[in-house]
This record gives sequence, structure tokens and C-alpha cells, in this order.
Amino acid sequence: MHNLLSSTLAWVAALQVPAPAPVLRSSAAPQLAQALEFRNGRWFDGHGFVERTLFAVDGVFVRERPASIERSLDLGGGYVVPPFGEAHNHNVHDGADGALQKYLQQGVFYVANPNSLARTTTTIRAQVNRGDGIDVLFAGGGLTASGGHPVDVVEPMLQRGIWSAADGEGGFYFAIDDAADLDATWPAIRAQPRDFLKTYLLYSEEYERRRADEATRGWRGLDPALLPEIVQRAHAAGWRVATHIESAADFRNALAAGVDEINHMPGFRPLVPLVDRVLGVQPVHEFELASYALTEADARRAAEQDTVVVTTLGALLRTLEPFDDTRPEFADAQRVLRLVRANLELLRRAHVRLVLGSDEYDYQESTVVDEFLALSHLDLFEPEELLRMWCVDTPRAIFPQRRLGGFEPGDEASLLVLGADPLAEPEGVRDVRLRVKQGRVLELAR
Ligand SMILES: [Zn+2]
Repeated sequence: MHNLLSSTLAWVAALQVPAPAPVLRSSAAPQLAQALEFRNGRWFDGHGFVERTLFAVDGVFVRERPASIERSLDLGGGYVVPPFGEAHNHNVHDGADGALQKYLQQGVFYVANPNSLARTTTTIRAQVNRGDGIDVLFAGGGLTASGGHPVDVVEPMLQRGIWSAADGEGGFYFAIDDAADLDATWPAIRAQPRDFLKTYLLYSEEYERRRADEATRGWRGLDPALLPEIVQRAHAAGWRVATHIESAADFRNALAAGVDEINHMPGFRPLVPLVDRVLGVQPVHEFELASYALTEADARRAAEQDTVVVTTLGALLRTLEPFDDTRPEFADAQRVLRLVRANLELLRRAHVRLVLGSDEYDYQESTVVDEFLALSHLDLFEPEELLRMWCVDTPRAIFPQRRLGGFEPGDEASLLVLGADPLAEPEGVRDVRLRVKQGRVLELAR
């Protein structure tokens, strides 16, 4: 069965906080900072793996061997990489103990939740952003227009009585239709706890038509003309801005507004019209494939502005995989695949900061590991390039103020030891033998 779940329905499922969750107990006893030696490891230098002995004191790598070593770790000849990042997932919230364990197990230490509900992200805060757990940023409620995405996520939650009205507008999202709305709503946006600000553009080239068409409920977003002002206000408040996009015009409008991060590649949703037709599903909308095609100018601008672009392509790529041959009846799927590749290639050649996010909420089904593997199957990126995107660029994009993603003196002493060379065999990223965070060896709870 192809992964055909509408991302919206999967999101609704993921937001249903399981009833009483046990408190996460890491078996890692709190340790005092100490002088560590890491020997017998092959370290990723961004290109290949190099045999080295490294040292850390007080949770950061140091240049010189400390006068006394309190603990010497034999890495067993393993392949050492910085811990992985997940730049787009909504599955960290209260009661998400299983997801936390999965992240640790897979070596994904850094996660961004780009739309969250303050009410259901309270107890989770004691379990993350600490020495023995993963580090998470929460966006709080996102900014959209009336009837805009993610209202389609909220409404089923209201209908099922899982959320109350207050969890919708003013909670999970803020609906803003014009400058007066922005003025009126800004104090409430400011008052909500958040680490960055999420905004939504959906087919913004059709903003006027869609706002008048109820059939597009959930498939529209902000007036692109408002986004520059939102970005300015957010930056003044100290928040980076991430923008959800669907079309190439959205990508362009996000760049024009000066956002820091673009979430998704154009046409990322599994149910894009052409894929729907191939699979015999009634398309959500009829669109020309051309509306998802980026240009060289787009890529150049994203590079010039140092805009981060989060992939979230795994679900689409896995949906297309069975159609990856030249039979004429698969021609539409082939066109989608070619477009995805062309867009990625444009961004790659322009040296745009591409980072990995999966937007896949069911961690038992798939995670950012599958995003990495799906991208690797494209044979578009060099193996070391893709690995760099995941373990260097993604953590740094999520936490730009921190010294992550490397093994230089002063960098956080965090690492994974893999049992296999991930440059020779991408599946090697699944074989995590040891996890160290800021000089602390992590033990997985059983
Ligand atoms: Zn999302």
C-alpha cells in the first residue's frame, strides 16, 4: 500500500494526545562534566571519515588532550557523525514519550515543531531541552487567513470534542485577513509562548479567488502582501519566520517577504493532482505542473538571502516509487518525479541551504530517517553532501546560535557512532551504536 494518507488526517491523528503517559525516565544518571577521550573512531569531516582521537571537557570538544582523562571511550572503529536533525515534525507534544524515545534511538537530537498548541505543549517541556533528552523548538500557533490551513486540521479535533474552540483560533492558529487584523491580533500572538513564528502561504497567486471560494477551505493561506510586515514584526520580537508553501509562487512570495525558512518543496503533498489521477483519486484541485516549477532566479535569491529550505519530500517520493518506470500509463508520475528532481537540482546548484524535515507524524510508520533514505534513492546528491545536509546543516538551521554539527574545538561534544559507513551504504544511518550529547553518554530507557 502506498503512503496515501492525507497529511492532514495523519496530523489530526498525531495531535490526539494519548491518555496518561508515564513520565519519561532516562536511565542516564545525571553526570558531572568530565574530561573525556574518544578513541578508535572514524570521524565525518564533511567529505569522508577520518581516524582521529578527540577530547571533550565540560561538554565541548577541546583542541588539546586534557591533563587527566576521567573517561576514555572506545568507539570500536565506528563511523562518527554529529547527531541528526528533524526540521519539520508536529509529533512532539505532551504525552509523546514514544516519539521522544524513537528520536533518541535513531540519533535525532534536534527537532522543530512548526505549529503547536500551547495547551498541549506544557509537561513535554520538562522532558526536552536537557542533557539527556532531545532539543525541541515550538512554533506555537501559526498565522493564516480565515478558512486557511491548518483550519482543516483543527476542525476534526473540534468535531471529535478533543479540542475546544479556544484551541482553534487564537490557539493553534491566528486568522489574519488584513492589516487591521494584524494590528488587532499581534498582542495575542506576542503573548503566546513560541520559539519561532510559522506562517502559511497556499497558492497565494490565487489569494483573492480562494478567499471567496469555500471549496478552498483549508487550501488557502495568508495574503502574500501582508507577509513582509509580519516578518518585520516577528524579527523585531526576536523570532525567526518559517513559511509553509505549496506552489512556486508561494516560494517566491516567501522570499520576497524575507522569511528565514521555507517549509516544504513546491508540490510536496502526496495528493498533488497528477499523482491523484495516476492513483485514481479525485484530485483536490486541478493545477498545471508548471505552477510547482522553481526557476534559477528563485534559487539564486534563496541562496543570496541564505533562506533555509526544508524538504519534506519523503512521503511523495515513496508514493511515486512504484511508478518509477517508463510505462506510458505512468507518464504523469514520471513528470512529477522529474519536476521534484529539477527543483532540488536548481536549489542544490545555487547552494541553497537545504535541510531535512519529514512532516511525518507517525513515528512507528516513518521518520526523518526515511526522508534521508528517500532523498538518497534519488541519486541526485553526493552521499557526503546528503549526510552533511542531515547532520550538519539541519541542526545548525534549527539552532543557529549553538555550536552544532561539527567536531571543532568549542563545538558541543555530541555525536553518534554508526556501525556501518553511511557513505557506502545509506541504510548505515539506522545502525546507531552509541549516542553522546554534550559529553554525556545516553542510555535508552527500556
Ligand atoms: Zn507541517
